[in-house]
Amino acid sequence: MQRAKKSLGQNFLTDRNIARKIVEALSIAPEDRVLEIGPGPGALTGYLQAAHPACLVLAEKDHYWAAERQKALHAGGVRGGVLLTDALTLAWERFTAPWKFIGNLPYNVASPLMWDCLSRAPGLTRAVFMIQKEVGERITAAPGGKAYGALSVWLRSFCAPKLEFIVPPQVFNPRPKVDSAVLSFVPLPEEQRPTALQAAALSAFLHRVFQQRRKQLGTIVKGMGPQALELLEQAGISSALRPEVLTPEQFLTVSQKFSCLLGQSGAAVPQR
Ligand code: SAM
Repeated sequence: MQRAKKSLGQNFLTDRNIARKIVEALSIAPEDRVLEIGPGPGALTGYLQAAHPACLVLAEKDHYWAAERQKALHAGGVRGGVLLTDALTLAWERFTAPWKFIGNLPYNVASPLMWDCLSRAPGLTRAVFMIQKEVGERITAAPGGKAYGALSVWLRSFCAPKLEFIVPPQVFNPRPKVDSAVLSFVPLPEEQRPTALQAAALSAFLHRVFQQRRKQLGTIVKGMGPQALELLEQAGISSALRPEVLTPEQFLTVSQKFSCLLGQSGAAVPQR
C-alpha cells in the first residue's frame, strides 16, 4: 500500500464494522445510483459493492487509488466506473436522476464539498458523510451558539442533517488528532429549497454577515447601501441582533430583501 498523503486528507478507515455501519446508514436499495467521494483503499467501497446498487461511481483524486479501485470494481461486476477527478470540480447540476452520495471525506475539503454537492445536485435523495466531529457539530448547531454559522445555515436551507454516530481516532491509519462524526442528510422537499437565484443571494449574504459575526446586523448591513436598514426592518429583523441568532428561514427571507444590493456590490457570487 502506498503511503498516506496528508495533502489529500488521507486518514484511512481500518475498522470493518464502522465501515459497514456507515454504508448501512445510506440505506441502499437495488435501484439506487451511488456516488462515493474519495474511495481510497476501499474500506466503504467493498460494502457498497456488496449492497449491489444499480450503479456505483467512485470519484478519487489520487491516481494510485483510482487505478486500484478501477481494478476492484471491474472484478466485482458492479455497473459503474471510477472518475479520476477532484470532486470539488464535479458538475453537481448534472446529477438529475436520483442519486445517493457517500464518503469518508478528506478533512481539508469536506466543508466546500458538502456546501456544493448538498445544495446543487437536483436528484440527491440521501447522503452520508464522515467528517471531523467539530464540523458535524457546526452543521447541527442550534441558532445562538458559537458553532452556528454560514455552513449550518446553508446546509440546513437545503437538507435535514442528522448525527448518526461518533468515530474515535484509533480506527484510522494514520490516526487523526480529533474525533470524527458520521452525518446523514435528507434533502428538504423541492418547494422548501431555495431556487438557484435565491441561493445566490443567500450565499452572498451569509458570506458578508458571518465575516463580522460579532457585530450587530444593523452595523453590518449599513455598508451595503443607504436603504439597508429599511430592508432589514421590512424583513422583520431587529438591527440590534447578531447574525448567529437568525434561523435558516429568517436568513432566506432577509437575504432575498438584500438581493438587489448584493448584486450591485458584486457580492452575489456563491461563496462558501
Ligand atoms: N474512503 C477511504 C476510507 O474510508 O478509508 C479513504 C478516505 S480518506 C479520509 C479521503 C479520500 O479522499 C482519499 O482517498 C483521498 O485521496 C481522496 N481525496 C482527497 N481529496 C479529494 C478530492 N478533492 N476529490 C476526490 N477525492 C479526494
